[in-house]
Amino acid sequence: GGVTYTLHRFPLDQKNRSLQAWDSADELLVEHVETLADAPKHLLIINDGFGALACALNAPKITSLSDSFVSHEATKYNLAANNLVDKTVEFVGSLAHFADTIDLVVIKLPKNNGFLAALLSQLSTHLKPGVPVVLAGKAKDIHTSTLKLIGKSLSEPTTSLACKKSRLIFAATKTLSEGKAIREHLVSWPLENTEFTVFNHANVFSRDSLDIGARFFMNYLPQGKKSLRIVDLGCGNGVIGLTVLSKMPNAQVSFVDESAMAVASAKLNVQENLPEQMAQCEFIQTDCLSGFLPATADLILCNPPFHQAQAITDHIAWQMFLEAKRTLRVGGELRIIGNRHLGYEEKLNRLFDNCKLLGSNKKFVVLSAQKRGQS
Ligand code: SAM
Repeated sequence: GGVTYTLHRFPLDQKNRSLQAWDSADELLVEHVETLADAPKHLLIINDGFGALACALNAPKITSLSDSFVSHEATKYNLAANNLVDKTVEFVGSLAHFADTIDLVVIKLPKNNGFLAALLSQLSTHLKPGVPVVLAGKAKDIHTSTLKLIGKSLSEPTTSLACKKSRLIFAATKTLSEGKAIREHLVSWPLENTEFTVFNHANVFSRDSLDIGARFFMNYLPQGKKSLRIVDLGCGNGVIGLTVLSKMPNAQVSFVDESAMAVASAKLNVQENLPEQMAQCEFIQTDCLSGFLPATADLILCNPPFHQAQAITDHIAWQMFLEAKRTLRVGGELRIIGNRHLGYEEKLNRLFDNCKLLGSNKKFVVLSAQKRGQS
C-alpha cells in the first residue's frame, strides 16, 4: 500500500480522457495479494486491461497473459511510465502454454464466458493442483452461472463481500478428469452459401455465428483475376478475407487483428478452407496497421470495432481509417461496413474528401473511399 501509480489507457489520445485505466476490481486484487502470508514467486496475471496489475503487484517473476496486443502494449508503456522497467514481466498470448512454476494466478473476469472456460481448463490442465486462483470483477457481472463455470475447472469457489461494486472469487487448480487442449475449445460452423467451415477460438468476435454486419458486407466484396494487395483489417475469424480470397484467386491478403485468438482463427480458416492459397496470405497481430509500410495496399476491407473494454467508443474505427489512408497507395480504396447511426460517412469524407455509398439496408451502410493524393 501507499505507492501511487500513474496509469494510461490505450490508445493515448482518446476523446474521453475521463475513462480510467484501472477499476475497483484491480484495487481489490492488489489489496488481497499484498496481504497474503505467502508472497508468490511466480505470479500469472490474466487479462490485465492496461497494466494496472503488472505495475502494482510484485513477485520475483511475473507472467502477463492476454489475448490483446493493445493491452500488452499499454502494460509495457505503463511499466515504463512508472519506472518499473526493471521488473521481470514476461508477456504471453492467450494460446501460450503455462509454466508449471506458477504459484499464484490472478484473473480479471473477461466478459466472454467461453474465453473464461477455456482459460480455466488450461490452468487446471497445466498447473499443479492446489495453485490459488483469484478472480476479480464487477459484482453485477458475477452470477451463479459464473461460479458454476469456475467450479467446473477449479475447486469449489468462494466469494468476498462486494466492495466498491466489485468482488473477488477464490478457487484453486484441481486435477481435471478430462483436461481439454485449448484447440478443443474451438467453435465451428458452416459459412452460409459456401462450402467453408469457420473455426473460432474462444475469444473471437461473433464466434458462434456469422456477424450480421459481415453478412451484409459479403455482398459488396470485389471479385476478379487482379492480383491486388488486400488487408482484412480487424479480421476476427477472417470471414471477410477468406471470402475475398475465394472471389479473387490471385489476391494477396493480410489478415490483421489485435486479438491473438482472432489471428490464429483466421490462419486456421485459410489453412482448412483454401490451403492452396496459404502462400498468398499473412496473419499479423498488431494494433490497427502499425508496422505496415505506407502506400503498400490496394484495398483495405474493414468491419470496425465499436467498443473497447466495455466502453462504447469510435476511436478505434477512427484510428483504423487514419492508418488505412497511410497504408493505401494513391488510387487505393478503403471499403467498410458500419451501423448507419455511427456516422462513418462523415469521417471518411473528412479524411479522404470522398466517400461513396455502395449499399445499405435498415441497419448498415457499406462505404468506399479512395486515396486520391499523397497525404
Ligand atoms: N472482420 C470480422 C467480421 O467481420 O466478423 C470481425 C469484425 S469485429 C466488428 C472487429 C474486430 O476488430 C475484432 O476482431 C477486434 O478484435 C478487432 N480490433 C479491435 N481493436 C483493434 C485494434 N486496435 N487493432 C486491430 N484490430 C482490432
